[in-house]
Amino acid sequence: MAEPAEDIHARAVAAAGPDGRLPAPPLHEWEVFPWEAVDGRVVPRPLVAPVDAEPPRRGEDPGDCFLCGGGATPIWENDRWTLTRPDAPTGLPLVLWLNAKAHLDFADMDDDLAAEFGVLAVRLCRAIEALDGVGRAHVNRWGDGSAHLHTWFVARPARLPQVLGSYAVEWDEILPPGPRDVWLADLAAVARALAAHSGRSHL
Ligand SMILES: [Zn+2]
Repeated sequence: MAEPAEDIHARAVAAAGPDGRLPAPPLHEWEVFPWEAVDGRVVPRPLVAPVDAEPPRRGEDPGDCFLCGGGATPIWENDRWTLTRPDAPTGLPLVLWLNAKAHLDFADMDDDLAAEFGVLAVRLCRAIEALDGVGRAHVNRWGDGSAHLHTWFVARPARLPQVLGSYAVEWDEILPPGPRDVWLADLAAVARALAAHSGRSHL
């Protein structure tokens, strides 16, 4: 059971300054952050000129790939996939990554692996959305940072009307993390729900 919206709100209020605002995460320092403040207004940054070529992503070579090196913490796995978690709770109820065990990219999946991804993605969303307090599981594949196939499953809380859509990902950086015991219980519920069909839970 994820935390009710009232608990998340109360923690945010307690952590906020006198003006009711939480501390800003360093998103504005990211080169890709599209907004900046000018003369008291939030405006889009100027679009920079094209570069000659896409820069290499992290882990293009399996020899220095974070996932191939076993750097992530699995909560569930089968022969072809791992479901991994962050080291600690974050602002949203759950952020999980479903990763192929093989070093390949999303478009490199053969039909069998792609079909299994589809089934696992649906089971995972079903398990996440079954948690009380979760409003929806968002599914994202960005692929711009790390080369190894990894997909995001992001649980947003129910009944917090600002924490919706792609902006929920930004609130993950803004909201104070929740209690570890609630987080671990939710991770275990999701891992065991998947393991009821296939693979094995680590929790
Ligand atoms: Zn890899």
